[in-house]
Amino acid sequence: NNKVTILGIPFDNMTRKEFLSVLYKRMEDKEKTFLVTANPEIVMFAKSNEDYFKLLLEADFIAPDGIGVVRAAKTLNTPIKERVPGFELMLGLLELANMEGKRVYFIGAKEDVLNLTIENVKKEWPHIEIAGYHHGYFDHDDPEKIQMVKEANADIVLVAFGFPRQEEWIKKYLNEVEHGIAVGVGGSFDVISG
Ligand code: UDP
Repeated sequence: NNKVTILGIPFDNMTRKEFLSVLYKRMEDKEKTFLVTANPEIVMFAKSNEDYFKLLLEADFIAPDGIGVVRAAKTLNTPIKERVPGFELMLGLLELANMEGKRVYFIGAKEDVLNLTIENVKKEWPHIEIAGYHHGYFDHDDPEKIQMVKEANADIVLVAFGFPRQEEWIKKYLNEVEHGIAVGVGGSFDVISG
């Protein structure tokens, strides 16, 4: 698996399809996985924030989200295969979870947005096992919330707090669990909610 480094961020040079097949295998092998979909905003933020930069280096996979990342790679003469938008990668994971009856936890967004998101998920992907859901407006340092999600025993945890909050929370969460894929999905629930 080759990497392309842009401003110190090691992107995985995989297509969306390749990401999904690797992630599926990790799920089957019960290997816990920290996935980041890094767009140019995230890359620029990491450049000026050392703690966040270090946090990104702890990710198992970093997807090249955004045409700016693809262009930068090309300019550096280390082209990447394709742009992998975070939203589409998330849809791919939901598709996979639907086909395989996997457990998905949804955490983040405002309560009404989240409720609509869950309704739409049930309609669109009826075979997903909804492991649980919780809005994103709580003290993100609260260990009880981590326990709550941990007890739901999810295969996939979608964290929609926006960056850098979502990645900070994912790191703490993954320290406490044995398996599962966790990914920050930014404002995606606002989109799924319609
Ligand atoms: N959000 C949240 N908790 C917070 C702050 C934000 O759940 O403490 C949610 C917000 O409701 C939205 C998502 O995080 O659904 C993304 O927020 P924002 O647009 O601020 O971040 P960005 O998309 O720019 O990363």
